[in-house]
Amino acid sequence: MFEKILIANRGEIALRVIRAAREMGIKTVAVHSTADADAMHVRMADESVCIGPPPSSESYLSIPSIIAACEVTGAQAIHPGYGFLSENASFVQIVEDHDLTFIGPSAEHIRIMGDKITAKDTMKALGVPCVPGSEGGVANLKEAQALCADIGFPVIVKATAGGGGRGMKVAQSAAELEKAFMTARSEAKAAFGNDEVYIEKYLTTPRHIEIQVFGDGKGSAVHLGERDCSLQRRHQKVLEEAPGPCITTEERDRIGKICADAVARIKYRGAGTIEFLYEKGEFFFIEMNTRLQVEHPVTEAIFGVDLVQEQIRVAEGLPMSFTQEDLVINGHAIEVRINAEKLPDFAPRPGKITQFHAPGGLGVRMDSALYDGYKIPPYYDSLIAKLIVHGKDRQSALTRLGRALGELIVDGVDTTVPLFHALLQEEDIQSGDYNIHWLEHWLETNLRD
Ligand code: ADP
Repeated sequence: MFEKILIANRGEIALRVIRAAREMGIKTVAVHSTADADAMHVRMADESVCIGPPPSSESYLSIPSIIAACEVTGAQAIHPGYGFLSENASFVQIVEDHDLTFIGPSAEHIRIMGDKITAKDTMKALGVPCVPGSEGGVANLKEAQALCADIGFPVIVKATAGGGGRGMKVAQSAAELEKAFMTARSEAKAAFGNDEVYIEKYLTTPRHIEIQVFGDGKGSAVHLGERDCSLQRRHQKVLEEAPGPCITTEERDRIGKICADAVARIKYRGAGTIEFLYEKGEFFFIEMNTRLQVEHPVTEAIFGVDLVQEQIRVAEGLPMSFTQEDLVINGHAIEVRINAEKLPDFAPRPGKITQFHAPGGLGVRMDSALYDGYKIPPYYDSLIAKLIVHGKDRQSALTRLGRALGELIVDGVDTTVPLFHALLQEEDIQSGDYNIHWLEHWLETNLRD
């Protein structure tokens, strides 16, 4: 059993890992930038090490500083959280070269899934259904035109190295293809230092359905059903729920088994998410995330499992603590992402929290690193809290969400809380009738000026 682990992250996810480790009797080391000296993860961990100045490139992304912090404190393993170094294959390699354990998948699996073309080829070969599109990268406009004549418009041009919704451009018709192709390439080059792009059929009214998988690294794997993350703004998730309001038991069992079998075959280790677009009863693979997701708590709520503790177990070489048969869905869970942002533009609003009160009660979970008097630094992501509610069914989860949002107090900065109050009034949200474009349309009509 590990005695001490280091968490190479900050904010609510660092707390999430500290809590899981503490319950397992494992000591924790927090790392932090100078801007985060007073942050909650620093206060809550058993030890902390300052690893650099505010910009993440010089602190949370500084591999030498993180390795040095492990050596100084005697931490045996690193949990990367999400974001930062969580999907950086060379980091994993370096960690292992220093005889430390990375709490996550192998460097090889991260590399395969980090390149979207290789990921798609791999998944296709493993029997996972994919969006129709180019076989590999598209080298030039002529090739793009020939392909689109074949698959038909609309299409989406996507960066091979893409992430965070960047480097994606839609072309509705042949006339729009040149611009979409060129812009996607230059955006990809600027954001990822790699201008390779590929093309997919653009699905017009899909839902974003993702399957949580978990493997022991030795050839056993399970699935933990789906999350519906269709409520998105600029391809960023805003609200997530599990189970998906439109997914039947038969569909879940079928796609879940395909995903679990696929990751079992590659001997995948730890938590992973296979993302699909879902339209008219069909699933189309778009990418796999080889880490814990922001929205993992909705899955934890309905299955009653601790995914972080499970990650730690399999990183130690222990078997998973559940089998597929043990995983039975109980009720419905919804998560909302509360950001320090001002509506209607969602402009980041760092600043001092003058008053903070977290909601509580039955079925309410608040994952947040906020406290009274905390100063949100301007250098990092604007996510300040995740509110997760669990109820016996979707309707009771929605009612509970409204109740919990009503109790929440965050004073001193603007937040996205009013958005969720407003969304709960919408019939489509109440009935679960939405797709990946619903929120953008709603924002345009409801949040103008
Ligand atoms: P990223 O890694 O940047 O998040 P993804 O491939 O996961 O990129 O896509 C993010 C979002 O973009 C999806 O959730 C969906 O809203 C939209 N999207 C991606 N591919 C398609 C497609 N082929 N058709 C329609 N929408 C798409």
